[in-house]
Amino acid sequence: MKSFEYQKVLCPADKDIRWRFLGKEFIRPLSLGKRTFLEVKPEGLAMLAREAFRDASFFLSTGHLEQLALILNDPEASANDRFVAMELLKNAAISAGGVFPMCQDTGTALVMAKKGEGVLTGTDDAFWISKGVFEAYTGENLRYSQLAPLSMYGEVNTQNNLPAQIDISSVPGDHYDFLFVAKGGGSANKTFLYNKTAQILAPEELLPFLAKSLGEIGTSACPPYHLAVVVGGMSAEYTLKTLKLASTGYLDSLPDRGNGNGQGFRDKSLETEILEMSRSLGLGAQFGGKYFCHDVRVIRLPRHGASCFIGVGVSCSAHRNILGRICGEGLFLEALDRDPARFFPDPAFEPEEAVSIDLNQSMDAIRACLSKLKVATRVMLNGPLVVARDIAHARLKAMLERGESLPSYFRDHMVYYAGPAKTPAGYASGSFGPTTAGRMDPYVPCFQEQGASLVMLAKGNRSSLVRESCRKHGGFYLGSIGGPAARLGRDCITKVDMIDFKDLGMEAVYRIEVRDFPAFVIVDDKGNDFYESFLVQKG
Ligand code: SF4
Repeated sequence: MKSFEYQKVLCPADKDIRWRFLGKEFIRPLSLGKRTFLEVKPEGLAMLAREAFRDASFFLSTGHLEQLALILNDPEASANDRFVAMELLKNAAISAGGVFPMCQDTGTALVMAKKGEGVLTGTDDAFWISKGVFEAYTGENLRYSQLAPLSMYGEVNTQNNLPAQIDISSVPGDHYDFLFVAKGGGSANKTFLYNKTAQILAPEELLPFLAKSLGEIGTSACPPYHLAVVVGGMSAEYTLKTLKLASTGYLDSLPDRGNGNGQGFRDKSLETEILEMSRSLGLGAQFGGKYFCHDVRVIRLPRHGASCFIGVGVSCSAHRNILGRICGEGLFLEALDRDPARFFPDPAFEPEEAVSIDLNQSMDAIRACLSKLKVATRVMLNGPLVVARDIAHARLKAMLERGESLPSYFRDHMVYYAGPAKTPAGYASGSFGPTTAGRMDPYVPCFQEQGASLVMLAKGNRSSLVRESCRKHGGFYLGSIGGPAARLGRDCITKVDMIDFKDLGMEAVYRIEVRDFPAFVIVDDKGNDFYESFLVQKG
């Protein structure tokens, strides 16, 4: 019989972190018998969480910004890759002003903490961490995305983005370590769990399976991605928890091989293979090219002999994660980058000419302009459009089912699927990027049948339902860049008026005016679909 040996499955080595000092006033050493503990006042937990979610909403890491800048300098990057990268860099620079959050979806607040057994707080830590989350989301121009169920079918927005997901585990030592993540809905939706068996553990099985999985992720979570893959896991939930940690870079310093006791490890050679695979997909940074992914992390875990879970997921262009620490020296947060503009290229980036579309024209005239363009053509939109997303679509469909006609705004204007973050004082709009188009797919045929929703604007790919409906009714779907919501809100949206379903708040119907709003033709009136052509081409 093998003797007892304790093996921590995930044991990343300590990383070099550049910390931002927040103060010492909430801590003090406390002697009890022969031991000295670190006493932390509960208010310190709230302050750390508040600052963490504020920083994560406005600033990115230097490493992430360097990866965007790399795209601009890579001769193999497509023109569309470079355009998206430049927009994301400009977005980061605007967001770093601390007024416009980098994305309109400011995420679900996730906190994973390890509390040393030598740390005393004397309180319900999750209460105070939640208070900090509350203060960040209510005090800044962030969006409230959490819906509380009142019954199985009835929901109400909690109006403060709580509850947060908070997991605290106990560890040896006298540090209190945190990982704060603000995870957007579109990004979270691209988390996949597959129940496989040992058969998958061969290159000829695993690689084609992962290639298919990359196609399923698609572009609706705003690439370039930080892609994570986890193979194995003692349970489905452990696989997914590891996936989340891997996508933030938290497990980067895992060892690079396993041992007979079940140590998890990072497979860097498979990471290189998958990165190459992602580049050959051709989807690129949303509109064709090389940069579907910035990087790939592959973690291999122990498993039960009868199962082999595989997790695949991403961290999106809003790569919002930040480490925190409370120790004897004080309270600290990972220092994020406050000066993204220094990554702007010199000489300045000059994109290729785009086709200007005047949205002041009639819908027929707008469609006639779009009909002359090929899919993947970049356009600049100028003029009015209406904003409507999930619940507004459901209500409009209910009107049709009651025999009522659709409002004229839905026929006369292009429809943008989006929902804004709060509007900062003195500005026309808050951060206001597109939401995932696919959720609105089932509505398209019945609306287009009524001459409505004939030109749509959002992010990500559509189903064949939309392609077929556009072909039949002369419709179009334009892709807006997912991710640069601060740039769109500050520079491209000049007026916002709530015009219908005002009770829905950020999900109400708005009429907005846009100026030089960038988009790409994705689905046209002839049945062409930019994304489908890639997926078919790549088999
Ligand atoms: S960047 Fe895209 S996927 Fe990420 S939170 Fe924003 S909208 Fe969602």
